Amino acid sequence: MKGDRVLIFDTTLRDGEQAAGTSLNSKEKLEIAKQLESLGVDIIEAGFPITSQGDFDAVRLISKEVRNSTICALSHANNEAIERAWEAIKKAKKGRIHIFLSTSEEHLTYQLKKSHAEVLKLAVASVERARKLCDDIEFTPMDTTRTDIKFLYKVLEGVIKAGATTVNIADTVGYAIPSEFGQLIDGIRKNVPNISRAVISVHCHNDLGLGVANSLEAVRRGARQIECTVNGIGERAGNAALEEMVMAIRTRADQYHITTNIRTEQIYRTSRMVSDLTGFVVPPNKAIVGANAFRHQSGIHQDGIIKKANTYEIMDPKTIGMPASALVLGKVSGRHAFKERLLELGYSLDEEALIHAFKAFKELADKKKTITDRDIQSLMGEEIRTSSEVYHLDHVGVSCGNQSMPTATVRLIGPNKEVLADAALGTGPVDAVYKAINRLVRVPNQLTEFSVNSITAGIDALGEVLIRIESEGASYSGRGADTDIIVASAKAYMNALNRLLVTKKVSRKQVENEP
Ligand code: MN
Repeated sequence: MKGDRVLIFDTTLRDGEQAAGTSLNSKEKLEIAKQLESLGVDIIEAGFPITSQGDFDAVRLISKEVRNSTICALSHANNEAIERAWEAIKKAKKGRIHIFLSTSEEHLTYQLKKSHAEVLKLAVASVERARKLCDDIEFTPMDTTRTDIKFLYKVLEGVIKAGATTVNIADTVGYAIPSEFGQLIDGIRKNVPNISRAVISVHCHNDLGLGVANSLEAVRRGARQIECTVNGIGERAGNAALEEMVMAIRTRADQYHITTNIRTEQIYRTSRMVSDLTGFVVPPNKAIVGANAFRHQSGIHQDGIIKKANTYEIMDPKTIGMPASALVLGKVSGRHAFKERLLELGYSLDEEALIHAFKAFKELADKKKTITDRDIQSLMGEEIRTSSEVYHLDHVGVSCGNQSMPTATVRLIGPNKEVLADAALGTGPVDAVYKAINRLVRVPNQLTEFSVNSITAGIDALGEVLIRIESEGASYSGRGADTDIIVASAKAYMNALNRLLVTKKVSRKQVENEP
């Protein structure tokens, strides 16, 4: 199979977004989708339209704006969900409906309470129904790796006959190991008579840390679509990481003899954007995109690298678009230079958004001598986050110290442009700020995580605060960046509160729409 290509199916916006605590708004999802398009992703799974009005709106918006990638919508195996999925993607240049239905004994017995015959009938009927709306249909027998093998062959044959163009072999619970997963693909190719009419896809989870290994073994055995997420985010331990699979296929082309459509120079910036917007920090030792992925500590290694890079480096950091030089812009940089840099980093803004972002850049440049790409990316994350706020943080001030009681004053701009102000005491400055905000916004919630990191080196570095709050069983992440960590904390809290408020508003709207 020399010269073949494997399709990259990205589910960052569906499986990744599903991961606890991520609730991106439409604008954030669109930003990520556009970046995935620049990255060269073949299929973008944009969401699960039946689950909420917010998800539906995001999929529809992405379908309108993204033209080079196929836009896929997930659907249950029932007519209502299929029609909703189609409604969301019908404006896409290339659209796909992805139907899933559990086929494993565990799920059939305990969850679905259905027989093999009933499940097969439902799978076939759903694919037939969807195929009347859309030519590109993917079917996933969910929990494939724990499905009775004879039954699996029958289901795959049935859905392909009904018009499925891709069949997705899912290790939903992350239980498979590479050798057996490879054999499963072999078995399917040998025993499903019409398998050549469909693309074999794989969807692997990382519960045993084997998502990437399983997917790559499947590719060696003939799978031609891999489902993955940026930074490997997703349910539980996450999904197979896009960047790891793409770079393994590229770096070990001698073994895989296959290519992808991915423009690898876009990997680093995609990783940063997904991390910034979802609030899932990339661990420093993460393969390919971690801060230490190309950092050599050992003296012998450093010496080797200086003499010749490939002594200890199997990949050139430039191939993933890792910025070589840290310094880019400063106080005297003009709007044109700023705009150019933004374009290089993958952000294309309209005039109004550019004016706003440039103002924020100038404010930052006043406080910080040198502005790096990371600073700009963080600033843009902030711009995107605050563009769809319910409450906007206008002012925050604290007084604290070892002899005084920490006191905070805050001023917010409310949903109807009203100015709201209050003050509160706290056990520390952050506590005081959060209490003052609570007096104004009044949404009961609990803070479950709080962390501060510096984005770049130096005493004037941007501090980035990442928090998670919980309200009524759901969790919401928030991020904020500023040279002042108290201000960053206030921004992070406002970001999480705004997400909470938007999510609640959307679900309320959905309830009202139902008959
Ligand atoms: Mn999954």
